[in-house]
Amino acid sequence: MDRVVNFSAGPSAMPLEVLMRAQSELVDTNHAGMSVMEMSHRSKAFEDILENTKHLLKKVMNIPENYKILFLQGGASLQFSMIPLNLLQKDHEAAYIITGSWSQKALKEAKKVGQTTVIATSEETQFRNIPDFSQITQFEKLSYVHITGNNTIEGTRFTELPKTDAPIINDWSSGILSEEINVSDYGVIYAGAQKNLGPSGVTVVIIREDLIGHAPDHLPTMLDYKTHEKSDSLYNTPPTFGIYMIGLMLEWIDSLGGVKEIEKRNREKASLLYETIDQSNLFYSPVKKEDRSLMNIPFKTDSEETDKAFIEFAASKQLVELKGHRSVGGMRASMYNAMPIEHVERLCDAMREFEAKIK
Ligand code: PMP
Repeated sequence: MDRVVNFSAGPSAMPLEVLMRAQSELVDTNHAGMSVMEMSHRSKAFEDILENTKHLLKKVMNIPENYKILFLQGGASLQFSMIPLNLLQKDHEAAYIITGSWSQKALKEAKKVGQTTVIATSEETQFRNIPDFSQITQFEKLSYVHITGNNTIEGTRFTELPKTDAPIINDWSSGILSEEINVSDYGVIYAGAQKNLGPSGVTVVIIREDLIGHAPDHLPTMLDYKTHEKSDSLYNTPPTFGIYMIGLMLEWIDSLGGVKEIEKRNREKASLLYETIDQSNLFYSPVKKEDRSLMNIPFKTDSEETDKAFIEFAASKQLVELKGHRSVGGMRASMYNAMPIEHVERLCDAMREFEAKIK
């Protein structure tokens, strides 16, 4: 089988075991005599799949009883609107910490809904770090504080949370399941599935129960969290195949030893690449050391031409999707849970070989 080493930021590499299992069950899922894609979302067979996926997510993330898990559509991008539409109360503000393009987009949508405030931003350093947000205590009447826990494009990650009584909302699209966290530190965690969870088309929302049910009456039914909570994500036809695939991904994580073990592997993988970058005289990391992401690692040389030459060199070795996001340039290696350390070793070897070659 000719599979490449895929550093795509998302949709991204999935574990081969998971893909093979899905392949083996594709025409007859769980002995139902039909594919998961052919099942009614109201059937017992699909209900079992939905329950299993929820059960596993609760287990591997240690989600407390007072949180609901919703499987929605519209991507993380629709959550940029649903969060303020459901949670931003009258006479209150929604606070945003701006750490990159995705948080800017989230803020833009919240502004359409109500009052917002930016309590910290790292825009002046081109988002090379997580800004200081200690002054947050000065703010009153906040409906929530929104963060982007891992910045997919800029390659930074929060290692601390703001100290606030307002619920913290985390767009964790590129960080979910990559490291252990305490779910009860958050009001809402949301993530598009297409990185660490499964295929694109499903968005997972983990929401504290008491935050549901406060939307204004005029809110369209499909945009109200209550609609989806009441019907257990079955108000309309959910992305059934995606929910099934998330279940397989979670079984895989569970079988490896859960998020604890995954985090250990992710830290080893990230250290290996950061060490290679830091030891190099050619490549460098634009990101402040303390704030570096474990999942998305941008790196550069001093010349766009050399960047391009390296990307081509890597592709000749089956190391693909290393081009950095157009707003940052250079290279970016996205190394989600599915990527084994051997793939990172191959990238590091290619970097050393390229550097020696062009000396
Ligand atoms: N937030 C973050 C941190 C992301 O990385 C992405 C997608 N790469 C999005 C939001 C947007 O997600 P979607 O395409 O699922 O709307």
